[in-house]
Amino acid sequence: MKLKEITDFLESLAPISYQEAYDNSGLQIGNPEMIVEKVLICLDITEQIIDEALENNCNLIISHHPIIFKGLKKITGTNYVERVVQKAIKYDVALYAIHTNLDNVLDNGVNQRLAQKLGLENINILDPKKNQLSKLIFYSPKNDVETILGALFKEGAGEIGSYKKCSYQNTGIGTFMPQDTANPRIGRRNVLSKIEETRAEVLIQNHQIQSLVEILKNEHPYEEVAYEIIELKNPNQDIGTGIIGKLPEEMSEKSFLNYLKEKLHLDTIKYTPLSKKIATVALVGGSGSNWLGLAKEKGADAFVSSDFKYHHFFDAESNILIADIGHYESEIHTIDLLSEIIQRQFPKFAVLLTKTNTNPIKYFK
Ligand SMILES: [Zn+2]
Repeated sequence: MKLKEITDFLESLAPISYQEAYDNSGLQIGNPEMIVEKVLICLDITEQIIDEALENNCNLIISHHPIIFKGLKKITGTNYVERVVQKAIKYDVALYAIHTNLDNVLDNGVNQRLAQKLGLENINILDPKKNQLSKLIFYSPKNDVETILGALFKEGAGEIGSYKKCSYQNTGIGTFMPQDTANPRIGRRNVLSKIEETRAEVLIQNHQIQSLVEILKNEHPYEEVAYEIIELKNPNQDIGTGIIGKLPEEMSEKSFLNYLKEKLHLDTIKYTPLSKKIATVALVGGSGSNWLGLAKEKGADAFVSSDFKYHHFFDAESNILIADIGHYESEIHTIDLLSEIIQRQFPKFAVLLTKTNTNPIKYFK
């Protein structure tokens, strides 16, 4: 299989445009046209991971964390990032990262999977992402509008939450006068036409703009298609950081901590005490301390994440239980998630899960 077949599929689920501004997801090393024999899936890429890939004849490594995060000004092997890059290029191993774009999708996302592991119900995105949505408005003869909308719906326009094919239409009078160089389907050159037209509006995602406008132009009967794209301030409720949801039943502090330990196979949890019962839980896989305020604002009784600094714990103020479960521990399930996603789409393709524990932190007990 060609590398780009896999990456195109992954990006149809988690488009690169969903990633955070600081991130660097996507293909980092490799030619999109190369033939992939076997893929190794991991959380982090280390030299040991490259060796594991080579031993198992995997010429593609898909990781959650990008190995190239900042610009590389030289590749001389002075640190592990440079050595990984050198080795991957030397042995023709492609490296692909699917990071905050996979965190930020509700469906098949890292945080959705974490919420499922905790059995959370009625889940929603904790911090829905803004600047992702636009409205596409177009005008067409009344009889053509259903065909055009049908083609746009097929490509994902008009989807809001659990609803598909959402649109709004009204009819009015459109006017136009074709000039000497025009080839109008309706009307004649230099004569003013007045036609009953429908104005249709659909919600679209910004990353779809180009392809949907192309579809609109192909399906529309007019030589010049009148359309507008308006950027919306509405957040996208299906895209963003973290999850908030309800536990299957209320729990005391102690039973919640035990529940976390059991469900996520944890050794240790750093936490802040809470005397009230826990019903609503917010979570952010990876470094999520910046979302503590929002978790409190949205009424979470507990916030599960990692990488809290000493002073962050004070912000719990005895009205939320912060559970710092460890960065690696909060995201390790991403490996299973990615393997399931890929195998569902390409059942015959060889997918290997890493056996290497790349967590750089060990606990001495
Ligand atoms: Zn992470």
